[in-house]
Amino acid sequence: MAGNDSLAEFLASAVQAAQEAGEIIRKSFYQTKNVEHKGQVDLVTETDKACEDLIFNHLGKLYPTHKFIGEETSAVLGAAELTDEHTWIVDPLDGTTNFVHGFPFVCVSIGLTIQKVPTVGVVYNPILNELFTAIRGRGAFLNGNPIKASSQTELISSLLATEVRSVRMAGSCAMNLCGVACGRLDACFELGFGGPWDVAGAAVIVREAGAEVYDPSGKDFDLTSQRVAASNPYIKDAFVEVLCQTGC
Ligand code: MG
Ligand code: MG
Repeated sequence: MAGNDSLAEFLASAVQAAQEAGEIIRKSFYQTKNVEHKGQVDLVTETDKACEDLIFNHLGKLYPTHKFIGEETSAVLGAAELTDEHTWIVDPLDGTTNFVHGFPFVCVSIGLTIQKVPTVGVVYNPILNELFTAIRGRGAFLNGNPIKASSQTELISSLLATEVRSVRMAGSCAMNLCGVACGRLDACFELGFGGPWDVAGAAVIVREAGAEVYDPSGKDFDLTSQRVAASNPYIKDAFVEVLCQTGC
C-alpha cells in the first residue's frame, strides 16, 4: 500500500512539474512570432533549458535520492547511464521544430523508471491543454478520463505516424505515442530519435491504454535503443511484418 501511495505521489509531483514547465512553453510559444529574426534556435534552447531546470529543481527537492536524466543536461554532460534506481527521464520540450514554427504539437515528457521499467508517465501538451498520465498497472488517462488504444484490426485502414530524417510528420515522438494510447492513431514507429526522454513518459501511458510498445523488429522494447514502435495489439504482427520488409 505504501508503494502504491508513493506512486500516486510521484505522479502528482510530475504533473505539477509538467504544468509549471508547460506554462513557460505556453508563454514562449506565443512570443516566438515576435522574435522571429532574433535567433529562434537560441530562444528554443533557452526555453528547453529553463523547463528542464524547473523540472529537475522541482523533483530534485522532493526526491533528493532519485536519479535524473534530461535531454538538455545530457547534451552538455553526456547521457547518464540508466540504472535500477528511481530515475526521472525528462524531455522538457518535445517537438522543438514545431515550437519554433508555432505548430501546436509540443509537449513536456516526464517518465519515472523503477528498476529500468517505465512506471509513471506524464506527457503534457500545454498548447492543446492535453495531459496524458499513467501509473503502471493502473490505466492511462487524458485530462483525467480513461483512454484506450484503438480496436482497428486492419493495417490498411490504420492511421500511422512516424518521424524520419528528412520528412517531418507530426514532429513529436511522445505525442505520437500518446496518439496511439488514446486511439487517435493506430500505430506509430520511430528510429533514431534523441534519447530515452522521448519515450520514457509515453511508454507507460501506451501500455496502460491497452496498446503495445515494442522494437520495430517485433522484439522487446528497449528504452535506451532509440527505436520504438507502438500499436494496438491487433495490428502488431502485420505492422511488424511491414516494418521488417522496409528494413527496420
Ligand atoms: Mg526536447
Ligand atoms: Mg524530444
